[in-house]
Amino acid sequence: MRAAAAVDTMDSTTPTPSPAPTSSEAPISFEETGSAFATRSDAQLRKAYLLFSALNQPLLARIGIPLTSALLRARVPGVQLAIRHTVFEHFCGGETIQECQPAVEALGRHGVKSILDYSVEGEKSEAGFDATTRETLATVEWAAGHPHIPFSVFKVTGVARFGLLEKLNAREPLGQDEQAEWNRVRERVQSICQRAHDLGVRIFIDGEETWIQGVIDELAEQMMVRFNSQRAIVYNTYQMYRTAALPNLRAALERAEAGGYFFGAKLVRGAYMEKERRRASERGYADPIQPSKSRSDEDYDAALLLCLEHLDRMSLCVGTHNEASCMLLVRELARRGIGPGDERVYFSQLYGMSDNISFNLAKAGYNVAKYLPYGPVRAVMPYLIRRAQENSAIAGQGGREVGLIRRELARRRQPAALPAGTGAPGQRTVP
Ligand SMILES: Cc1cc2nc3c(=O)[nH]c(=O)nc-3n(C[C@H](O)[C@H](O)[C@H](O)COP(=O)(O)OP(=O)(O)OC[C@H]3O[C@@H](n4cnc5c(N)ncnc54)[C@H](O)[C@@H]3O)c2cc1C
Repeated sequence: MRAAAAVDTMDSTTPTPSPAPTSSEAPISFEETGSAFATRSDAQLRKAYLLFSALNQPLLARIGIPLTSALLRARVPGVQLAIRHTVFEHFCGGETIQECQPAVEALGRHGVKSILDYSVEGEKSEAGFDATTRETLATVEWAAGHPHIPFSVFKVTGVARFGLLEKLNAREPLGQDEQAEWNRVRERVQSICQRAHDLGVRIFIDGEETWIQGVIDELAEQMMVRFNSQRAIVYNTYQMYRTAALPNLRAALERAEAGGYFFGAKLVRGAYMEKERRRASERGYADPIQPSKSRSDEDYDAALLLCLEHLDRMSLCVGTHNEASCMLLVRELARRGIGPGDERVYFSQLYGMSDNISFNLAKAGYNVAKYLPYGPVRAVMPYLIRRAQENSAIAGQGGREVGLIRRELARRRQPAALPAGTGAPGQRTVP
């Protein structure tokens, strides 16, 4: 065990991000739309084009997103069906594990793996938390032995009351009932990680709001101590838009080195920026988010390099749609002589987004797994709203998708340019 040495070097060698390679320097390109959209028929692409174009209209996005969720809450007839055939169909695999299978198989045929993500949020009852635990266990069991599903995932708020986590995070004392409630939460988390460990399925614990994240980090670390003695089974998430994320990651890595267990990290930028800033401003505490996008980018890439430095004791998943960060990892793997198929390193994107990254990476032999969300339409609305916002004109991602789809549709109109195995005009290429 090289704990002491590792601690020393970590303090003195904080990596600085190097500039991301340009497409011409990198061994792969994210511009190849034929591979990117190989699983999408012309009709599906046109529908996706309309969806992203609509989200890209500032007024439509600003009014349409809250209006649609209000109409759904009011149970206005037809709204649920409309959502099912638009955003839900694009960003989710289905309502059940079984309904996700065609998507899992279609992605798998192109070397892209799946992560079944039961995306039901906002559960408040003990029965609901137990049901989410059972469903998460079902995803772990489904993944075991499935060649295209390397990971499972869950959110602690899916199995615990938000207010309880908030109280624990603030170090407020718990009453007797709350202590019993907390014990049940720990049992749920432990049962999921135990099953994942026993079946050899790696498991991600998602990152959430800063005012509950401290307690999630503690839980995740306890699970790593318990289940990561042979390899990284449990992965915690680090949201690099947080000013504290890089020091937190470094400290957690040091504790893993010292404690002799393998470390698992999923790196994301973070999905709750506006909510975080609003709360900090309303309550008058320092904004926990980086002051600018470029600072989030710098810390993201620094975290990526830090993890690569310690790959002998950890596994890494980069959950991002950022081409520069993905390209940086591609180049760093090559520079360090780490093969693209090394199981310790995964790229991950969300289903329905950045297929140009996922499919081109997989084609070049890198490990790629897409989060494949599923669950009843009404229950996955918070997830869909975050995706809609992320793809709106304000965030900019939607514009990127529109451009890529437009290019692919134009390419398909030139029959001679169609390479074998890519979507043929007017034809469904997947079941
Ligand atoms: C596989 C996967 C798993 C995920 N899991 C989680 C999770 O567990 N928890 C979670 O919170 N999110 C999660 N996400 C969502 C993720 O955080 C968002 O997709 C991500 O924020 C979008 O960033 P990006 O890295 O794709 O790249 P980009 O599109 O380059 O970056 C956008 C992000 O940069 C940051 N940013 C933008 N503007 C600013 C600014 N002015 N100042 C500071 N920062 C800024 C924000 O985080 C914003 O979302 C996951 C995403 C993926 C792909």
